[in-house]
Amino acid sequence: MTAERFSPNQFRHAATIDAPRVYRDGQWRTFEPPAPVERTLRGRRWLLRPGITFTPYANPTRCNAHCAFCSEELQRLDATRLSAHTVIADYDRYFSALDRAFAELAGLSIGLSLSGLEATSEPEWLLRLLSLIEQHPALFAEKVLYSNGSGLCVDARIAPALARVGFDRVELSRAHFDAKTNHKIMRFDLAQPVRRAEAFAETVARTQREGVPVKLVCILNAQGVRSIDDVERYLDHAQALGVARVVFRELSALGAIYRENRETRWIDANRVSVRALMDELLGDDGVARPGWALEGVTSGYYYYNERYRRGPVEVTLEGSSYVAHHEAVESGVLQKLVFHSTRELCGDWVPDAQRIGSYDE
Ligand code: SF4
Repeated sequence: MTAERFSPNQFRHAATIDAPRVYRDGQWRTFEPPAPVERTLRGRRWLLRPGITFTPYANPTRCNAHCAFCSEELQRLDATRLSAHTVIADYDRYFSALDRAFAELAGLSIGLSLSGLEATSEPEWLLRLLSLIEQHPALFAEKVLYSNGSGLCVDARIAPALARVGFDRVELSRAHFDAKTNHKIMRFDLAQPVRRAEAFAETVARTQREGVPVKLVCILNAQGVRSIDDVERYLDHAQALGVARVVFRELSALGAIYRENRETRWIDANRVSVRALMDELLGDDGVARPGWALEGVTSGYYYYNERYRRGPVEVTLEGSSYVAHHEAVESGVLQKLVFHSTRELCGDWVPDAQRIGSYDE
């Protein structure tokens, strides 16, 4: 049996699924790309994926964590440098250029995906960015911050500012609720209070109190959450904190497009298969593990996931492939917009790939 193809944003409900396994294992291949839209950017005509996201690559400082699997330290074979290593130097120049980029993108249907390194590591940069976004209220259909929580933990101004600007959610990374286990994986700088369990719990509570929903992101790995029992323990903690959504991600498939380094070796040694967990949750007999119910499956251009409900918590299990991402990026249609610290807009995380142009003037 083969899987039917997915259209963008299509959510296939559980009631229409006879055999979930046909959607498992690399089923981003079932994604049917939508017709691209045309746009002139920096004087050249480009094709863009509808629903494309824009990322102001957040590296006002080096990251204050050092996750063993950090994707920002992965070096693609065709890249000459890493975005992560060129921090944003001149804020006035940077924000003038970003303002020009926002003006040129006006009218497109785009989402804001605030990620890169840690956007909250330097609150002055983040608050200035939020003010600029506020000046372009119609630009982003959806706004999401991806964070390790460090700045939210120590600076009480950030959560209210996110709420004021209308962020849809914060996706907070936490590999494990046991602080010691989490630290072995995320390796926060020792001065970061968020590494402590109570500080993290208070950060989640405060952010939600301010009106910004928190979704927790747990990267499955052999040092941390690696079994269904671990997943359930994690969900019990999340539920106790009042979190309504949690995603468990397998480390992205790397294929042969990256140089071997400390991170690729750790990923190879510690990968936990999300497919195996899916099979345990819901096998071919269609009977879900007690307490769990499948809600549906979905797929994007480089990821696929299954969504479940366990009590009040919506739980997503996700697999993805940086190889599929790279192939889509090379297809001639821009899949992603990344504004780098060099004030250049690119269609890729790699700063010298899919270069659209500089917004210096
Ligand atoms: S928090 Fe994000 S950017 Fe920082 S080390 Fe971890 S994965 Fe990398």
